Amino acid sequence: MCGIVGYTGPKQAYPIVLKGLQRLEYRGYDSSGVALLKDGKLSVYKKKGKVAELEQEMLQKDSSAHIGIGHTRWATHGEPSDRNAHPHRSANGRFAMIHNGIIENYAQLKNELVSKGYSFSSDTDTEVLLNFIEHIQTNNNCDVEEALRIALKRVTGAYCILLIDEQDPDTIIAARKGSPLVIGVGKGEHFLASDASPIIEYTKEVVYVNDYELAIVKPDQLILKNLGNEKITPYITTLDMELAAIEKGGYDHFMLKEIFEQPSTIYDCLRGRLDANAGTITMGGIEKNFEQLINANRIMIVACGTSWHAGLVAEYIIEEICRIPVEVEYASEFRYRNPIVNKGDVIIAISQSGETADTLVALEKAKENGAFIFGVVNVVGSSIARISHAGAYTHAGHEIGVASTKAFTGQLAVLMMMALKMAIKKGTITQERYQQLLNELQDVPEKVNAILKNAEELKTIAHKYKDAGDFLFLGRGYNFPIALEGALKLKEISYIHAEGYPAAEMKHGPIALVDEKLPVVFIATKDSYHEKIVSNMQEIKARKGKIISIITQGDHISPTLSDDVFSIPPADELIAPIISVIPLQLLSYYTGIAKGIDVDKPRNLAKSVTVE
Ligand code: GLU
Repeated sequence: MCGIVGYTGPKQAYPIVLKGLQRLEYRGYDSSGVALLKDGKLSVYKKKGKVAELEQEMLQKDSSAHIGIGHTRWATHGEPSDRNAHPHRSANGRFAMIHNGIIENYAQLKNELVSKGYSFSSDTDTEVLLNFIEHIQTNNNCDVEEALRIALKRVTGAYCILLIDEQDPDTIIAARKGSPLVIGVGKGEHFLASDASPIIEYTKEVVYVNDYELAIVKPDQLILKNLGNEKITPYITTLDMELAAIEKGGYDHFMLKEIFEQPSTIYDCLRGRLDANAGTITMGGIEKNFEQLINANRIMIVACGTSWHAGLVAEYIIEEICRIPVEVEYASEFRYRNPIVNKGDVIIAISQSGETADTLVALEKAKENGAFIFGVVNVVGSSIARISHAGAYTHAGHEIGVASTKAFTGQLAVLMMMALKMAIKKGTITQERYQQLLNELQDVPEKVNAILKNAEELKTIAHKYKDAGDFLFLGRGYNFPIALEGALKLKEISYIHAEGYPAAEMKHGPIALVDEKLPVVFIATKDSYHEKIVSNMQEIKARKGKIISIITQGDHISPTLSDDVFSIPPADELIAPIISVIPLQLLSYYTGIAKGIDVDKPRNLAKSVTVE
């Protein structure tokens, strides 16, 4: 994780780097720092805590310089502290470097360096890599670029690094493998960052750097090379993104803004694809690969976190309407066990950022074994989008809140369309049912809008239960993954321990937790399991648990068993998850706020998990 920013050009670097770090803070916020180079003198400032702490510290300092790099950290090696914060400085003081990723063989490299007399002022893997570069540079008496190339060939793990050299007044050297890097091309200036958000207000022309590439960046020159020192022509693309998309737009938090954006983000996701009147879904990535997809021996969905929950919903839907066996895998497990992946298998990779390290490596492995990779990602041009054979973007726009909301509903909408398109082609769904689901899907934005109008009701419920120590979330069928997602959201944003469970499974264990203090959230919308879930409510009520239920408008039974209810518009059970998750997002948001938590930056989390 971590956010990295760099600038070289005629402007003052510090304000650009600072603003960039604020935009990238969603990626990590344990500590932050900047390195500035002015008149041949390198200065490094760093501070534990959020970027605001650094900003405060910098008020007393001379921050003028035309070249600078900055970092906001999500610690992997060494506690969050001033000394472990980036940028790190090499032992002889000549170089300053920031890093996103993990150097896996750092311990071995560190031992080598220690035996050569090096000592370290931090616990990070980053400082080891930096001193390794310095050591090669001094030992071989070569230029830093060559030292970097030699060093990177010895390194295992993931990195995106930016390095500045006290002896080179206007150059930033960058390299990546596994962690993202975008370079903004301005007029006589260049911007470097983990994603485009720090760049967008200065230029829309960007170059996405690929793995194993090195960039030598000066104000008026961008040289791209591979690790074999061969030049590569930079491919400039134009960003399709507006500054407003990355600002709060009057909301108190990005999370709330993103929850409220969902009617339009879901609409954007469906737009141009779903035409209920014509009875069609247009998805190029599927049409071009129909044979692969509908004849798949099986589909494996690989994802992490909230995306994994979207995968579980998709499993139920694809098996139901496409009759293809589906398995849903945590990417972090899939990549290390020895899964059986064959030609003829289809892997659907789901990731908001498209940079999730575990998912990325899992895909590379499956691709080697001949699987067909279909990416469902939000960030256009991201690594997963690029290594997939085909895919569909979720078009949810830039998601900044660390807890995913609009990206999740976008994923569900894409996966639903994908399943429908495959089912009708395969002939495993009737025309009538297909049309009915198209109509239902088209109505989702309006239904989400109706839920958001009653958001205040969830605020009241949140205040009532904010001091609970634990929560249980129960759902059945298509709403079971939504129970998992509700519990995850609450944990992330309010720090309340919560478990999601299939409602019927709770009697095999979690029911032991139920007492008069335990709030139990039922996702009890009207579907084929409704009577069953009402029985599960009875079981909780008999044990005096507090019941909060998400019900379908017009349901008169569930309220008699519930302490609190929130009604949502009726929807087909296959479509229901996209709307039943909305009240759970709001419940966790308001609970977090009631507890005084910084919901956009909850402790220990980072948005885009680009480390293992
Ligand atoms: N491994 C580095 C550290 O712990 C960078 C971590 C990251 O990319 O978040 O400082």
